[in-house]
Amino acid sequence: MGAVFGDRGTNCILSVEYYCCDRPNPILQIIYLAIIGAIYYIIAKTSFAYIPGYYLSGVHRYTSLLAVGIGILLFVLTSFSDPGTIKAENVSQYLSVYPYDNIIYTEKECSTCKLPKPARSKHCSICNRCVARFDHHCGWMNNCIGERNTRYFLAFLLWHFLLCIYGTVAIGLVLAGRLKELRVVYILTVYYGVENSFGSLAPHVVQWLLASYNTQILLMVFTAIVSLLLAGFFAYHAKLCLTNTTTNETFKWQDYISWQKKLREARASTAALKASISGISNEGKPPERKSPNFKMDDRFFSSQRLHLEHSPFYSFLMAVALFFRKRGNPIHLILQNVKMDDQFQLSKVGPRRLFRKMETHTSYKNSIGDE
Ligand SMILES: [Zn+2]
Ligand SMILES: [Zn+2]
Repeated sequence: MGAVFGDRGTNCILSVEYYCCDRPNPILQIIYLAIIGAIYYIIAKTSFAYIPGYYLSGVHRYTSLLAVGIGILLFVLTSFSDPGTIKAENVSQYLSVYPYDNIIYTEKECSTCKLPKPARSKHCSICNRCVARFDHHCGWMNNCIGERNTRYFLAFLLWHFLLCIYGTVAIGLVLAGRLKELRVVYILTVYYGVENSFGSLAPHVVQWLLASYNTQILLMVFTAIVSLLLAGFFAYHAKLCLTNTTTNETFKWQDYISWQKKLREARASTAALKASISGISNEGKPPERKSPNFKMDDRFFSSQRLHLEHSPFYSFLMAVALFFRKRGNPIHLILQNVKMDDQFQLSKVGPRRLFRKMETHTSYKNSIGDE
C-alpha cells in the first residue's frame, strides 16, 4: 500500500479504516435511514397516484407511513438503548445471574474495565465496554446487541421482514389493479389476436408492465430480495434466542469443540507413538488423563440438551416471554405466575424450565383453589 500511496497516504487510509471499522460511528445508521427514506419516497412518488385502486383501498397511504414509522422507531430503540453495560454498580447482579460453566466461561477480570467478567459477557473493543449476554456489535445500529436490547433487535428484524413483504405485495397489487383498470388483458388479446390463455398472454403482459412500470418492478425485486435476507437473519437470531444462546457463544462453542477434537487427536497419536516405542503391548489401552479445565459440567450439558429437545410451543412461549417482560401488559400477568420479578431472571431460564415453572405454579394454584 505504501508503494502506491506513500506514507502519508497509507496513514490517511489507515486512519479512515480505524474511524470506520474500529470506532463507533453513525455511517451505517445514516445509510439505513437513507435507504428506508428513499424507498418510501420512490414508492410514494410512483405508486400513491394509483391508491386507492382496484385491489388496494386508500387506507394504505397511511398504513404504509405508519409501518415505516414503527420500523424507524424500532431502529432507534435498538440503536440507542443500553445493551447491558457492565458497571461497578451492577456487576454483582450480573455475576449472580450468569454463573460460570467452567467450560467456555471461567472466572476472570476484564483487563480494560478492571471489573470481574460475568459469564456470557464480552468486552466490545469498538464501544470499549463490557456487555452482558453479549451477542454481537451491530454496525448498522452502531451499538452492541446484548442482554437488554436483543428483544428490540429481534423485533426490528421481524418488522423489517414484514415491511418488505408488505411493500412487495402492495406494489404487486397496484400493478395488478392497473392491469384490471386499463383492461390490458382484453386489449392485448385483441391487438395480438391471441387467445385468452395464460401461456399466450403472459409474455405480452410482462412486456407491457416492464415498459410502463419499470420503477415499481425494480422496487418489487429489491424489497423481495431484502425480505429473503431478513427472513434468514431473523430465523437465525430467533433460533439463538429460543435456545437461549448468542452469536458470540456459538463461535466459542465451535472453537471449544475443534480444540477438543485436536486434543483427542494429539492424545491418540501420543499413545500410538508410546506403544510403538515400547514395542511390547503391556496394558492395551493408554491411561486416560483429564486436565482440570476439561471437566464436563453436567449441569451445563444437560441444559444444552434441554434446549435441543423443546417443541415449537415452548419456543414460541419463550419468544413471547422475552418480548413482553415489561410490566403492565397481559403477557406480564402470565409471567407473574412464573414468580419472577427480576427481569434478569428470565433471560437465564430456558423455555422448558420456564414452562415447567409455570406448570408447577398453576397446579399448585389449582390444588389450593383460586386466590
Ligand atoms: Zn471490559
Ligand atoms: Zn459494541
